Amino acid sequence: MSSRPALLWFRQDLRLADNPALAAARKTGLPVIPVYVFDDSLAHPPGAAARWWLHHSLEALSAELEKLGAKLILRRGSAAEIIPGLVEETNAAHVFWNRRYFPGHIETDKKLKSELTEAGVTVETFNGALLREPWELKTGSGGPYRVFTPFWKALKQAGPARADTEANPRKLETKKAKLKSDSLKDWALLPQEPNWAEGFEPLWTPGEAGARERLRDFLNDIIQDYKDGRDRPDKDYTSRLSPHLAFGEISPLQIWRATQAKISKGDISDSAADKFLSELCWREFCYCLLFYNEGLPEAPLREEFSDYPWRDDARELAAWRKGETGYPIVDAGMRQLWRTGWMHNRVRMIVASFLIKDLLIRWQDGEAWFWDTLLDADLANNSSGWQWVAGCGADAAPYFRIFNPVTQGEKFDPDGAYVREFVPELKEMPAKHIHAPWKAPDDVLDKAGVKLGKSYPHPIVDHAAARKRALEGYEKIKRA
Ligand code: FAD
Repeated sequence: MSSRPALLWFRQDLRLADNPALAAARKTGLPVIPVYVFDDSLAHPPGAAARWWLHHSLEALSAELEKLGAKLILRRGSAAEIIPGLVEETNAAHVFWNRRYFPGHIETDKKLKSELTEAGVTVETFNGALLREPWELKTGSGGPYRVFTPFWKALKQAGPARADTEANPRKLETKKAKLKSDSLKDWALLPQEPNWAEGFEPLWTPGEAGARERLRDFLNDIIQDYKDGRDRPDKDYTSRLSPHLAFGEISPLQIWRATQAKISKGDISDSAADKFLSELCWREFCYCLLFYNEGLPEAPLREEFSDYPWRDDARELAAWRKGETGYPIVDAGMRQLWRTGWMHNRVRMIVASFLIKDLLIRWQDGEAWFWDTLLDADLANNSSGWQWVAGCGADAAPYFRIFNPVTQGEKFDPDGAYVREFVPELKEMPAKHIHAPWKAPDDVLDKAGVKLGKSYPHPIVDHAAARKRALEGYEKIKRA
């Protein structure tokens, strides 16, 4: 057998367990060279928060590989040049990778595969990121799904494409040749002064072990409350697996199988699991939408929304970003995002609706801010999420469904605990008034130490008037 090595190219799959490309590379029996390329020449390079995560995730992956006796080779630049360069340098006969699905990535990978194949290198690619490839599930008429419920039904019936998850390898044959590797530190992925990521550190453990632990905790203690509690930002009732999934530190198949195993053992009920798995499948649905609509991050799926009379208001956009809109639930969400790199799903919908419908600012501006500040920034989920709220996406909320930030706060944060955690200026406000401090009597404000316009802003818009304005804008595009 030839002893020419195999390159294993890690991308959005920073894990060893249930990694089909790694399993296939090991099966060849050839020495394996693991490599990661930081290619910020591609469209949609990671935002600032995601870079923080990437740094720590690569550190964790390197350490795990070292335990197997392998060294992760790091290179920065265009993967289209670096991978063929590495093939030549190492005389590799095989290249293995798990597929990516974002526009720009797909073309790069296809081109690279055909160039390498032409040069006599065997390239094998796998599905390591999804339960089903976007092209595997089709509607009765043969097209891709654009409505979630039938998509979820079809996926549930078909089940995941692979039968089982693969265990963590215990050993990896590797090439001892000295290969040049960048130093992770030199990539400067972590924030310099000031360290705005300080708040992330106690909350998150990037890497495969952190992902596994979070899944275990969720399945042991939290999932039973998920169905009824997942809309409550004041409670910790969701999995918070999103950044781990975005970086491929855990696969949806591992999550699916572990959840099924809990049902089989009788530890959790079918209905609790069903709700959670259906949310996991929203991710699959979003990947399908992006796969069939490359323009999803930039352009509305419903074209008439291109003519919506948006406003450019840098001052209001800045107030939204900083969490200084005067609407406590919106401000709490935006500050949770800044402080922790994550925001609760219900609040993502509220703040997105506020930007788009109360301020009439383009959804793409909100999407860009999320992209830069979310640890779980994911092109498919983020662009679908924004288009969903804006009413211009597939299976989207109707445009006229405009969230009222006060009643949303009262319903989903009834005691105001979430607002108090992230908007400390309102810490002493009683629950009855915390979601609309401008309506509180003076003595209540005095007692809570709140001075509107000084310690906490007045609302930057009047919701009722803003709602009317948004609906008038919608009437215009409906008529056009
Ligand atoms: P859980 O409720 O525990 O769900 C488990 C997993 O299922 C999640 O980790 C996620 O991978 C998937 N999931 C759950 N809900 C959704 C959903 N609505 N759409 C797609 N996948 C879902 N999610 C991202 O991962 N990255 C993003 O960049 C992103 N941007 C969003 C922007 C907007 C405007 C909105 C409304 C939603 C966005 N979401 C995004 C979806 C959702 O808010 C997060 O996936 C979820 O809050 C993550 O928390 P969790 O892991 O505790 O979720």
